Amino acid sequence: MKQDVVIIGAGVVGLATAAQLQRLGRSVLLIDRDAPGAGTSSGNAGHFATEQVFPLADPALLPKIPGMLLDPLGPFRIRLSYLWRALPWFLRFLANMRPAARRRNTAALRALNESSLSAWQRLLAGLELGAHLVQEGSLLVFERDDIQPVKRTLAHYQSQGVACRYLDGDEVRALEPALSGQVRHAIWFTDTGHTPDPFALSCAIWQQLQQGGAQYLQAEVAALEGDGVVMLSDGQRIEAQQVVLCAGAFSRPLAASVGHKVPLDTERGYHLMLPAHSGLTRPVASADRSFIITPMAGGTRLAGTVEFAGLEAPMDPRRADILLTHGQALLPGLDGRDAVRWMGYRPSLPDSLPVVGRGGERLWFNFGHQHLGLTQAAASADWLCAAMVQGQEARLKPFAPDRF
Ligand SMILES: Cc1cc2nc3c(=O)[nH]c(=O)nc-3n(C[C@H](O)[C@H](O)[C@H](O)COP(=O)(O)OP(=O)(O)OC[C@H]3O[C@@H](n4cnc5c(N)ncnc54)[C@H](O)[C@@H]3O)c2cc1C
Repeated sequence: MKQDVVIIGAGVVGLATAAQLQRLGRSVLLIDRDAPGAGTSSGNAGHFATEQVFPLADPALLPKIPGMLLDPLGPFRIRLSYLWRALPWFLRFLANMRPAARRRNTAALRALNESSLSAWQRLLAGLELGAHLVQEGSLLVFERDDIQPVKRTLAHYQSQGVACRYLDGDEVRALEPALSGQVRHAIWFTDTGHTPDPFALSCAIWQQLQQGGAQYLQAEVAALEGDGVVMLSDGQRIEAQQVVLCAGAFSRPLAASVGHKVPLDTERGYHLMLPAHSGLTRPVASADRSFIITPMAGGTRLAGTVEFAGLEAPMDPRRADILLTHGQALLPGLDGRDAVRWMGYRPSLPDSLPVVGRGGERLWFNFGHQHLGLTQAAASADWLCAAMVQGQEARLKPFAPDRF
C-alpha cells in the first residue's frame, strides 16, 4: 500500500516534522532502526540555545588547531586516525571563515533561531506538552577577572539582536546561589530555555503523534530509490507520496543514494549524567571550559566537547570524565557518584547550516542541525512543511541541499 508521508529517522527533528505534518492533515509513517527519540536527541544538553547565531567556522579557531590534534582531552579534538577523512570537510570549513560567508551563514542561522522558541511553544501547546519547555534563560559564565573579553562577547551578541545582559559575580550568584566564587562575570541570555529531559520530550511527542494516528516501523533504511521509494535493508520496498529524510548524522549515504553529495560529518559530543541535583535552575555554559551544565529532572547533566572521529570509532570515556572536573570547579561539592557516560553524533555541515529543502519531486531533506538540533527542530519542521504542503520554498534557499 502506498503511504502518504514516510519520515526516515525518529529523532527530535523527525518527530517535530511528523507533528507539523500531522497538524496539516497528513498521515505519517516514521521509520527508525531504533526507538523514537533514542539517538543523539536523547542525550543532548536540553538547551534551546537560540543565542547561538554564530557559525562554528570562526577565524579565532585557527590558532587552536594544533591543540585540537595534540590534546586528547581538549574541548575540540580531531583523532589523528580520522584526519585524512575529515580533511575535505575542514577545507570547506576554512572557506566558510571568509567574512562574506560568515555574514551570510550568521544571517541564515539567526533567522532560523529567531523562529525557534515560538515554533516550540506552538508545537508543544498543540500537543498539550508545554511543561517540557522551561523558559528561565541561560547563563554564559567567565572565571577570569578581566572584564574586556566579556564586554566584547556581550557586544558581539547584541550586534545580532540577541537578548542578553551583563551580570557581575554577585549578581550571578544571586540568580544561581550554587555557583562558585570562581565565577567573576556572566552574560544572561533571557530568550532561551531548556527542557528537563530531552528523551522524555521526544517520547511525549511520539505518544501524542500515535494518538493522532501516526505509525512507526522499526527497520533499517538501506537506500532511497528514485522519488518516493524507500528500500529497507531486509529488501522491503515502501512507496510514499512524499519522503522526508531526517536521519541526523547518518543521512549522508541515504542522500547520496539519490545523487545528492552533501558534505555531512559528525561532531561527536559527550555527556556525564549525575543523579545528584546541583541546585541550578537554568543551563550554565562556561566560556573558559567550553561545556554546559543543565539541571534535569533526573539530576545534573554535564555536556559538551567536540570530537572528529567519524561514526564507527568507539567512544573515548576520558572525554566524558573530564566534564566532572569542570563541573566541580563551577559547582563546589557537586556529587559525581554513579555518573553515566554517553556519546552522541552531532550532524554538522561546514557552514553550520542544516540541510532543509527539496531533494527530488517527492523527496525532502531535514537534517544536519549540528549543535542546535533540539533548538531548531520545531522551526525547521515548520519551514519545511510550509514548503512541502503550501509550496513556500523561498526562505529555505540558504539551507538548500545543492548549495555546496
Ligand atoms: C553532547 C551533546 C549536547 C548537545 N546539546 C544540545 C543542546 O543543548 N541544544 C541543542 O539544540 N542541540 C544539542 N545537541 C545537538 C542535538 O542533539 C542534535 O542536533 C539533534 O539531536 C539531532 O537530531 P536528529 O533528529 O537530526 O538526529 P538523531 O537524534 O540522531 O535522530 C536520527 C534518527 O535516525 C535514525 N536513523 C539513522 N539512520 C537510519 C537508517 N539508515 N535507517 C533507520 N533509521 C536511521 C537513528 O536511529 C536516529 O534515531 C547536542 C548534541 C550532543 C552530542
